[in-house]
Amino acid sequence: MSKVTVAKFGGTSVADAEAMRRCAAIVTQTANTRVVVLSASSGVTNLLVDLARGTLSAAEQEIHLKKLKTIQDNILSELGNPSLLRETMDGILKEIADMARQATQNSDAALEDRLVAQGELMSTRLFTEMMNQLGHKAVWFDVRKIMRTDSRFGRATPAIEAIHNLAQQDMAPLLKDHIVITQGFIGANADGQTTTLGRGGSDFSAALLAEALGVDELEIWTDVPGIYTTDPRLVKEAHPIPEITFSEAAEMATFGAKVLHPATLQPAVRKGIPVFVGSSKEPSAGGTWVRDTTESSPLFRAVTLRRNQILLTLHSPNMLHACGFLAQVFSILAKHGISVDLITTSEVSVAITLDQTGSSSTGRSVLHDGVLDELNAFCKVKVENDLALVALIGNRMSEVNGVGTQVFDAVSEHNVRMICYGASTHNLCFLVPESDASLVVQKLHQRLLGK
Ligand code: ADP
Ligand code: ASP
Ligand code: MG
Repeated sequence: MSKVTVAKFGGTSVADAEAMRRCAAIVTQTANTRVVVLSASSGVTNLLVDLARGTLSAAEQEIHLKKLKTIQDNILSELGNPSLLRETMDGILKEIADMARQATQNSDAALEDRLVAQGELMSTRLFTEMMNQLGHKAVWFDVRKIMRTDSRFGRATPAIEAIHNLAQQDMAPLLKDHIVITQGFIGANADGQTTTLGRGGSDFSAALLAEALGVDELEIWTDVPGIYTTDPRLVKEAHPIPEITFSEAAEMATFGAKVLHPATLQPAVRKGIPVFVGSSKEPSAGGTWVRDTTESSPLFRAVTLRRNQILLTLHSPNMLHACGFLAQVFSILAKHGISVDLITTSEVSVAITLDQTGSSSTGRSVLHDGVLDELNAFCKVKVENDLALVALIGNRMSEVNGVGTQVFDAVSEHNVRMICYGASTHNLCFLVPESDASLVVQKLHQRLLGK
């Protein structure tokens, strides 16, 4: 077969029939796109997450269910209400209503994942019908057959080797004659129970499938024409970056550039698959190529922001000249599946930052009483909220004189904490109060990234 591309479309790209038609045109523009990975239509996952939490009143539940039905019905009616698909969609909506009711009585993580997964199952059904009506040979594929994960509901870890084997066995043979339409975000454990990869996980799914199938390119189609120098919603002078390295883009994704799920680039890097990020609304506007190497490697490339950080300060006199204190801390966090972002230490204390929700699908807080009790048992714990993590991304940043001065001059009026610099040549990060965050990003962008 000639070159093969996996194309992923996000929620706004499949928000309604008109948006889906634009996706269909992008997919069929070249013969290379053989796998299409979709998110749920815009707003659907949020509604499902609310239902999955099981805390809505009966009246609120009804309103949510009605909103879901309206989004699906609008697309269905544009497709001429084909009876078979109508039946399937009504069946899914009924299942959602049943599960939502169940969640109010006794919610558990497995049920939550089964519920929030329905958005992707619906959008892919609708898009497959659209592609077939347009005369293309498209086939709907339940990704749970091949997207094998562990059982950590809400933020499951993919099993790379199993996904490779299953994708080669069950999906690869279809590509010769079909365009395969499948779901992002969702997977299944070895027992066949539905899991999810965490909010925004469809980018990651697409990259995992690209890796498993060994394709030539991955396209991420979203609502902005590429990766920008910072979030364009935050800074209107932000501009698209035509080309960026895997390392820089991975740092951006990790430190808050929502345009890519943090784990997206890992599979692409493993297989050296170039990634294109573009806008499904303006496919001709170009976008960003993420590759191994780029022509330019500026000192400052971008600035990112991640809100809702927890700062955990652990204090223990036993830490002085002792071995194994940090190992103990990290083993507790690891046991609870909590990942640490920044870390600084002093003589008798260590400070670490955590993401409030760890980006789990249903937004449960990672720092529950169980973790705190275990930490409190051997050190004094202080928890601070309302902090945001700002990261400057670039090249050779720890090798060039004066980087710190340039950065901290720009934000001298703000209370900067937890500065982390030097672990990577690609970033410099710090915490600021949540209320200062937007202004700090704007000032940094203006000073260091303005055109
Ligand atoms: P999708 O639903 O297509 O996955 P997302 O909302 O997850 O889209 O990601 C796209 C959004 O990411 C943009 O609308 C933009 O506001 C935000 N964003 C944050 N940082 C950046 C950045 N550096 N470049 C581009 N977009 C960014
Ligand atoms: N639908 C999921 C979410 O809203 C996954 C995704 O869009 O990537 O988080
Ligand atoms: Mg996204």
